[in-house]
This record gives sequence, structure tokens and C-alpha cells, in this order.
Amino acid sequence: MLKLKHVFKDYNNNMVLKDINLNLPSKGLISIVGVSGSGKSTLLNLVGGLDKVTKGNIYFNNKNITNLNTKELNWYHNKCVGFVFQSYNLIDYLSINDNLSLINNNFDYILKKLDIYNLKDKKVSLLSGGEKQRVAIARAILKNPKILLCDEPTGALDTSSSIKTMELLKELSNRMLVIVVTHNMDLANTYSDYIIEIKDGKINSNIKVSDDNNKLIIGKPKKTKIYKIASYHLKHKRKRNLLISISFAIGLIALGLVLSINIGFKNSITKEEKNSLAKYPITISKYSTYLEDNSIKQEENQIYAYDINHINIIDKTIVNNLEDINNNLSYKIFKYNINNR
Ligand code: ADP
Ligand code: MG
Repeated sequence: MLKLKHVFKDYNNNMVLKDINLNLPSKGLISIVGVSGSGKSTLLNLVGGLDKVTKGNIYFNNKNITNLNTKELNWYHNKCVGFVFQSYNLIDYLSINDNLSLINNNFDYILKKLDIYNLKDKKVSLLSGGEKQRVAIARAILKNPKILLCDEPTGALDTSSSIKTMELLKELSNRMLVIVVTHNMDLANTYSDYIIEIKDGKINSNIKVSDDNNKLIIGKPKKTKIYKIASYHLKHKRKRNLLISISFAIGLIALGLVLSINIGFKNSITKEEKNSLAKYPITISKYSTYLEDNSIKQEENQIYAYDINHINIIDKTIVNNLEDINNNLSYKIFKYNINNR
């Protein structure tokens, strides 16, 4: 049912999986073992369509799932694969009931089967690790997936909860393919139909089992009732919402203050410039000179401007205009002192 053909995966030129070939049946419990960082989670994520292969192909019921479009990927996530993580990934402040009704409302029989029916209305944050993991499994199988992918599902559990979880997964593997990443060789040995060891990016013990030819039926992906989470937040997280609103308001006020100080500062500088420059008289001479460093020449103890840029044309109009100003015009003498002369 699940085939991996020459699958490679690298992250930033670090080849994590090198030429993985697998052929897995539609039922049974497969354990993936290997040292930390060997690529177990990477393999699981590729199979679950959470990450893309670098090279190679993965087939689910003969359909290549390596290059699905968004719609097909939604279908794959909603109908074909279920995920169970070590950290449960449940919404802590919702009850079991609310966590599961985000997916589907017909879950009573699953809760009874998993022995958590009486905890239905309890918030997830109040459950034990083993109970949380059972809720996570319930959520994953509620979609009735064909493959259940579990990334270290017993990693955070004590021995007795780990055994209960593995027994549950074993039972589920009678009707679906269950792939379990685990560190625990004892559990792997006890419960698995097959064990795959990943070492140096390759499969150490290659398994080949016969394939079935189930046809692929494409269904409509279910829409997640996201509004439930939003309305819960609004209703039950008043304190947090209030704090967020206050901090947002403070941010806005601060932004306003900075902007108005900036504008006021600019205005006052402009005013200051106008006032101070107004003190100086306007002088008009026949020659305008350009007195920057390179336009002043010093030769034989004399200094003179050598680059006379412009000769002003002082005609009748300018003189008339100047006389109209009706003010006492004055002039200034500049003295240059070079080498004490
Ligand atoms: P395992 O689950 O066996 O402990 P992983 O599959 O998580 O190992 O990781 C295998 C290797 O790939 C590690 O070296 C890890 O650092 C690297 N890796 C995993 N995911 C990413 C990522 N998203 N970006 C870069 N490197 C990653
Ligand atoms: Mg991992």
C-alpha cells in the first residue's frame, strides 16, 4: 500500500536519507528505530506529506504523493494519514470533547474503546500523560485513516502507560498500517510485525512484504471548525485578551507620541532656521564667487578666488526692486590672513 522508491532527503546539503526503498502492507505495526538524528522523524514526515522529498517517489495505493497540489494534500492529510506525536499536540484548555469535535462528532465509541469516555468533559491540561496520548490517538483515528503515523508516542510516558499505548496501537494495526518511531527496542521487539532500522541515512534491515491493490477513492476534505477555538479564546481567556488589548493600545499611543514629537521637532527647527537667517542682510554684488576649498588659490602670499562663476546682470529692474525694499543696505569686508600677513 505504501511504497518508497529511491527516496533522498537533504537539509542544507546534509543528506539525511539516502536512497530509501520500502514496500509496506496495508495492515500491521511497523517500528522505525535508530539513534537520535538518524532521520526517523524525517521519514515519517515525508510519508505523512508534511515535508517534501529531495529526490525519489512515495506511492500511496499506487498514487504518487510526492507532488500533490494543495487540494490533494488536504485530502491526503484528512483521509489517508493520522498523526500521533510524543508531545500530543492537543489543545490544552479544551476538553477531550471539544478537542475531538474539531474533527468529527461521532467519537463516543472510540472513547469507550480507549477507556477515556468518562473523562470526556475534562480539560486536556488535567489529564495524565497516558490519557493525553490516548486522546491524541483517538483524534488521529477519528478520521479513519489508512496509515497511522506515530512519532515516539511513548517517549513521554511511564512504562505502564507505554505498554497500554502500544497495545492499543497493536490492536489498531489489525485494520490499518501503523508506523511507530521509537527509541524503545523492548517495545519495538514486543509489538512490531516489522522493524526498520535507519543507520547513516539508509535502511539497515530491508523489509519487503507483499503489496495489496486497494483502489484510491478521493473524498472531500473536512473543514476544521476553527471558529470554536476562536470563540473559546474570546470567552474564556478574558484576562489574556484584556492584556493583549492594553499592550496593543500602549503600542499605538507610543507610536502616536513618537510621530507627533517628530513633526513638532521638525516644525520648530524650521522656525528657528527662519528666525536666525532673517538677521542677515541680503547682499548683491556684480561678481558671485564660488568659495569652496578648490576655488581658493594661494600664490606668493596672495589669496584670491580663481573661479568666478557668475557675473550678475544688475539692470534697472533689480535696482528699482532694491530701492523699493526701503531699507538701509550695508556691506561687509572679509579679511584673509595668510602666514601672518
Ligand atoms: P530523528 O527523528 O531520527 O531523531 P530527525 O529526522 O528529526 O531525526 O533529523 C535527522 C537529521 O535531519 C538531523 O540531523 C536534524 O538536525 C536534521 N533535520 C531535521 N529536520 C530539519 C529541518 N527542518 N531543517 C534542517 N535540518 C533538519
Ligand atoms: Mg525524531
